[in-house]
Amino acid sequence: MRPCLPSPLHELCDPRLTALGLRLALKRDDLIHPEVSGNKWRKLKHNLTAARGQGQRTLLTFGGAYSNHLRATAAAGHALGLATVGVVRGEELADRPLNPSLAFAVEHGMRLVFVDRATYRAKHTPQVLDRLLAEHGPAYVLPEGGSNEAAVRGCAELPAELGDDFDVVCVAVGTGGTLAGIAAGLPPGRRAIGFAALGGGFLADEVADLQRRTYGAPTDNWHVEHGFHHGGYARRGPELDTFLADFAARHDFAPEPIYVGKMLFGLFALAERGTFDPGTRLIAVVTG
Ligand SMILES: *Cc1c(COP(=O)(O)O)cnc(C)c1O
Repeated sequence: MRPCLPSPLHELCDPRLTALGLRLALKRDDLIHPEVSGNKWRKLKHNLTAARGQGQRTLLTFGGAYSNHLRATAAAGHALGLATVGVVRGEELADRPLNPSLAFAVEHGMRLVFVDRATYRAKHTPQVLDRLLAEHGPAYVLPEGGSNEAAVRGCAELPAELGDDFDVVCVAVGTGGTLAGIAAGLPPGRRAIGFAALGGGFLADEVADLQRRTYGAPTDNWHVEHGFHHGGYARRGPELDTFLADFAARHDFAPEPIYVGKMLFGLFALAERGTFDPGTRLIAVVTG
């Protein structure tokens, strides 16, 4: 499981930003590892050490049918010789052909357990968890999206790879572990902006809670933008599609649309609104 770290930092030359006096670089975490890619590698790193340190031979975790976290956990377990169990939301999926994400997980040895939505909602309660562990454990349990204290500490290692020529780090937010860690790892005077990939407006609370659990208190150098989710998780509309097609044509790079595309859309929208002072150096984390 040898990673490519530090991941590359690619300058992006975009006349729309140059005209505003802004500079942008892409932090290519998507190049860290071919199968355990992006922020998932950083989030799993300390968890895998902990699992092995505890002598666990199985990882058990949770995700939706298109979860990148399930894929990454399956690949990591496969590479390290750990069994993996993926608890998937939606029992109706058990009778359908597997989508590419779940097929990948199964090919990498993951046992899938499909549960109904009510059970899934209660997944982190002792009743449900104990039953899952009785049936499929013992196991090292990773929460949905892999966001726990060890994941936050892994993501907090990213800013040390950025040098000191930057002001603002932009990152997509799904469960919040990546933003929580990056913000905690920033040097003084820098800040992080999270772009929520889903609606509901609760993600800032999740990020604060993760920082509280990891470090005792939240940091005050970040916020979450809730206005760029384009209708919800994995939803998209013509505005986002047009932006992404144009971005790919300009930069010969097609961002992953569910998280990274929405973050870049939001970054450019904020820039065009005059949110950033001229001279600001931005970094956008390509989380996958
Ligand atoms: C999982 C994922 C995220 C969300 O990370 P969180 O730590 O859950 O906020 C962002 N981008 C990509 C590409 C992902 O796969």
